[in-house]
Amino acid sequence: MKHIADNLARVKERIDAAANRSGRTADKIKLVAVTKGRSLEEIQTLLAVGQTLLGENRIQEAKQKYDQMHSILQTPFEKHICEWHLVGHLQRNKVKSALEMFTLIHSVDSLRLLMEIAHRAEIKKQTANILIQINTTGEESKFGLESDNVIDFIEKSLSYPHARIVGLMTMGKFNTSADENRRAFALLRSISETIKTKKFPGITMPYLSMGMTNDFEIAIEEGANIVRIGRAIFAGAS
Ligand SMILES: *Cc1c(COP(=O)(O)O)cnc(C)c1O
Repeated sequence: MKHIADNLARVKERIDAAANRSGRTADKIKLVAVTKGRSLEEIQTLLAVGQTLLGENRIQEAKQKYDQMHSILQTPFEKHICEWHLVGHLQRNKVKSALEMFTLIHSVDSLRLLMEIAHRAEIKKQTANILIQINTTGEESKFGLESDNVIDFIEKSLSYPHARIVGLMTMGKFNTSADENRRAFALLRSISETIKTKKFPGITMPYLSMGMTNDFEIAIEEGANIVRIGRAIFAGAS
């Protein structure tokens, strides 16, 4: 499992360099290690080298690992070391389970989903932190709100304060030019800036979640402060 520590170190160097190119420092950028399809042993290797922010994209798989991890981690302190984000699509009937595991849901793309999250969070006397997923590439197959609908979406969301919007998320195209993804990431950033100028009550938009293995450096150059990386961390696993 040594490759994981080495890969992680290299990814962090690349994040650092990209952050510097955008006039920032790496401590302003959160790295979510995306562990979908990875074993418990691989995850434990990550924790051992201090990577404690993890991302999953399916509730069922996440729940299995979450329960296993919590039976291994003993004290409340240990259990709080790990932080889990949901990066993949969420169905409304899985919201209750999602709120038990995740501190941030990156993938909210409908008002009905936001309403269900707010409802379940209110029952728990909590506020759930969410990002709005936006389809910035125009691909029909992709989840996410159309960028033109975002302002209207936020206005409507203000009626459901138990779901707190803390930023935006997008996915670049998988097989495309760096330039095309740069445009997508720049679009997400400009939408975020537009939202900030509207000064919606309670909405400050601190987070831009964009960038994966193929494109995280471009995303950081365009303003990402959360990157979600899987393959670059786990590649070479035996
Ligand atoms: C899998 C996944 C990632 C990580 O992708 P890599 O290409 O492995 O870095 C990031 N975000 C989402 C939503 C994912 O599903």
